[in-house]
Amino acid sequence: MTAASPAVSTVPLYLAEVRAAIARACRDAGRPEDAARLVAVSKTFDADAIRPALEAGQRRFGENRVQEAKAKWPELKAEYPDVELHLIGPLQSNKVREALALFDVIHTLDRPSLAKELAKEIPRSGRPAPRLLVQINTGEEPQKAGVAPLEADGFLKACRDEYGLAVEGLMCIPPAGEPAAPHFALLATIARRNGLSVLSMGMSGDYETAVALGATHVRVGSAIFGAR
Ligand SMILES: *Cc1c(COP(=O)(O)O)cnc(C)c1O
Repeated sequence: MTAASPAVSTVPLYLAEVRAAIARACRDAGRPEDAARLVAVSKTFDADAIRPALEAGQRRFGENRVQEAKAKWPELKAEYPDVELHLIGPLQSNKVREALALFDVIHTLDRPSLAKELAKEIPRSGRPAPRLLVQINTGEEPQKAGVAPLEADGFLKACRDEYGLAVEGLMCIPPAGEPAAPHFALLATIARRNGLSVLSMGMSGDYETAVALGATHVRVGSAIFGAR
């Protein structure tokens, strides 16, 4: 929470531009204009910087750290109860309970131990089960979270059959400095053969490409809130 909000927020303007670009990319791809939803990534920005986006009608937000989200979202959710919060960063097993108390969608299911913990904690959370996406490490980068592409089908089957989790889709973060399109196409292929309808892919630099390749959720931060 380092970035100070400017006196006059540029967020509504940038938000409108990103929304228009998403709709245009949908049209260009022959998809319905609302086929790709915007997850506004508000990580590192404080409540005052986020509020203009809420005032402009944005309700779907992404955060990558449970602790940070916990520090700023309960207050904002009290003002805007219909906010939908998406966890887009890694989830440690010991943070599952806190995550379930706050998030509506978890994009980063990436290992059996987390599936097991989620299966145990979801019924105890007292909230509707979160929608779950499995993160795929499409670039097979050793330092990056996510299930290897070749292990995806097996992991998805285990989520369903062993842990009783209803996974809705897949998420990826392509390697930096590489064209993103092949990674988005790979994610779409894995989703298709597993009968999954949700594709979380595309960030500020490449969300239009992601929409062209079937993204149902794009995660856009800096193009809306500014540089971090
Ligand atoms: C930060 C982040 C984003 C948003 O990135 P921008 O380039 O600022 O749009 C999207 N997805 C994940 C997983 C992130 O951590």
